[in-house]
Order: sequence, then structure tokens, then C-alpha cells
Amino acid sequence: MHIKANPLDFKEEQLLPAAAVLQNGGICAFPTETVYGLGANAWDAEAVAKIFRAKGRPQDNPLIVHVADPGQLSDICIVTPLAETLISRFWGGPLTLILPKTDKVPAAVTAGLDTVAVRMPSHPIANALLRLCGLPVAAPSANLSGKPSPTRAAHVLADMDGRADCIIDGGDCLWGVESTVLDLTVSPPAILRPGAVTKEEIYGEIGEVIYGTGVGAPKSPGMKYTHYAPDAPVFIAEGPDAAARIAEAAKAYTRPGVLYYDCNPPALPVAISAGNTAAEYAAQLFFALREFDRQGADVIFAIPPAAGGMGDAVRNRLFKSAGGKII
Ligand code: AMP
Ligand code: MG
Repeated sequence: MHIKANPLDFKEEQLLPAAAVLQNGGICAFPTETVYGLGANAWDAEAVAKIFRAKGRPQDNPLIVHVADPGQLSDICIVTPLAETLISRFWGGPLTLILPKTDKVPAAVTAGLDTVAVRMPSHPIANALLRLCGLPVAAPSANLSGKPSPTRAAHVLADMDGRADCIIDGGDCLWGVESTVLDLTVSPPAILRPGAVTKEEIYGEIGEVIYGTGVGAPKSPGMKYTHYAPDAPVFIAEGPDAAARIAEAAKAYTRPGVLYYDCNPPALPVAISAGNTAAEYAAQLFFALREFDRQGADVIFAIPPAAGGMGDAVRNRLFKSAGGKII
């Protein structure tokens, strides 16, 4: 089933068939302000198992439980005072919180962990769907495991047509990178995945926060897998002479591509601009990675934005898509 809905002008009736799919144990792809999600009733372990099968997702990579209202959380997790502070400041929006889970949440959702990831989106279609189905919805990104997250309906159709029971086309996603994942079960709170809610913004609200990447630091299980990989290999090039180094390295390829930012791009067969700000870069990134494949690039050279703010989220995804390959 395919549903097309304009986020700024849709009728709730349009989403009722999608809500019914969720209520009946099916899986539904829906737009959010970060990326498209692939959702199932979070209380139904069998429905959740369908998500893992559709994506080819490793069983030990837990899902995020999406709610329409923070009032739903008491069944799902223990809401700490710190969580309440962050919820009132950043929800609905691209901030996922890791909290101690209740017994009611099936192990399939949390990959057996005693913590659960929760988020309330700001996207009008996502929120209406969550409200209409009346359920918490477990949802990872709606891509095949390992591929770039879908930020446009065409990406979801490419990966999930025939695999999801329902796909809602709600246009392009606003942010383009997945939510910030913040672990509140450790002290100080640790960002396991940078996103559109930045470390600086979280610091401004609660005073103490770190990136959870140090030795012995808590890890998001999902972070160990290959991610965001287009078909062509990705190489990162940084620094003032990045464009010149790319031009040189590109000579070894037949149809090289460049994702350029803040520079005059080298003249390569496929050149895609990442915009002029880190936020524009984020909104372009996953589209661009898929676009290089579509245009037949046999290599992708990418110039990342500077670190800090949303630059951290873009750099995190880019370096993962490159699998550590730097020139
Ligand atoms: P996705 O929705 O596909 O972007 O994946 C959800 C992300 O949240 C993955 O990186 C998971 O590892 C992470 N995640 C979900 N639940 C937990 C949890 N209980 N503890 C730590 N990370 C989690
Ligand atoms: Mg994902």
C-alpha cells in the first residue's frame, strides 16, 4: 500500500489505513523530520521481527520507540528528572533518549538490553500516525541495512517496495541525518550518535555531556556495523589543498565523483554540492551518496564540514560511509 500525503496539508483520514497496518501487526514506512522510519507496534515482538527481516538488520541492533506524547513513556521506560528537562526543551524533535526500560517492552525491540531508546518526532505526518494508531512504534531508518538512510520517498521505494506493508510518501526530510542518541543511564550523559540536536545545545540545557566514544565508554550497538555505504567507495579529503589532492587521486578512476563543500570543486564527471552550511550538508548527504550511485560514479571523494555543531553529525556519517578511508 502506498499513501501520498503533504506534511503541510493532509487529512488524518489519509493515514488511517497506515495506522491500521500498524495495529494489525504490519510494518509501515513513514516520514520523520530526520529520515524515513520503518515502524511496527512496539508491544508486538512478531511485528518487530518483520522490521529486522525487511531491512536485513542484525538482531543485536536495537530500535528506537517513537511516541506521539511523552505521557506514553511511563509504560515504556523510567523517566528521570534529567529526561524530563530534555523532553520539555527538545521534544518533538530529533533527540532520542536512552533510559531504563520497563518489563513490558519486548526484548526484540531493545536487542535484549535493559535500556530502551525513546523519541517523539516533530514531523506532522509521523505524529498524526503515532496518535492515530495509539501505539508506541518501534522504528529504525527505512533503508536496507548498511545503505544510506532514506531522506526522500524515492529512497524508501528503492529499498522497501514489496518489503513494507505500507509506505507513506511525505516528501523530503527536513534534517536529513538521524536523531541525536543521548544515553541518560550513564554519568555524565553520553552522546552515542551526534545529530541535529547538538552537543552544544544539550550542554546548554543540562551542563554536562560527553561523546561516548572513549575506551570503555558505552557504545550504541548499531555503531559497530557498516553504515551509510553507497556502492562506490568513499574517500574523505580535508584541509586547504583537499580539492587538489582529490583531482590527483581521481586520475586512477574512470568516473570519479566529488561531494564538495566550501571550495571550488575539481572538474570531475560527477560533482555534487553539499551546500554552504553544515545543516545544508546534512540535508544533502544521504541523497548525494545515493545520487553518486545513480549517476554511475566509481568512486566518491567527499570534503567534510568543520567539526562542531551539526558538523559533528555530518562528519560522523561521512566517516562511517568511508569506512576510515582518507586521502
Ligand atoms: P536507526 O533508527 O536505524 O538509526 O538505529 C537506532 C540507533 O539507536 C542505533 O544506532 C542503535 O544502536 C541505537 N539504540 C537503540 N536502542 C539503544 C539502546 N537501548 N542503547 C544504546 N543504543 C541504542
Ligand atoms: Mg539506521
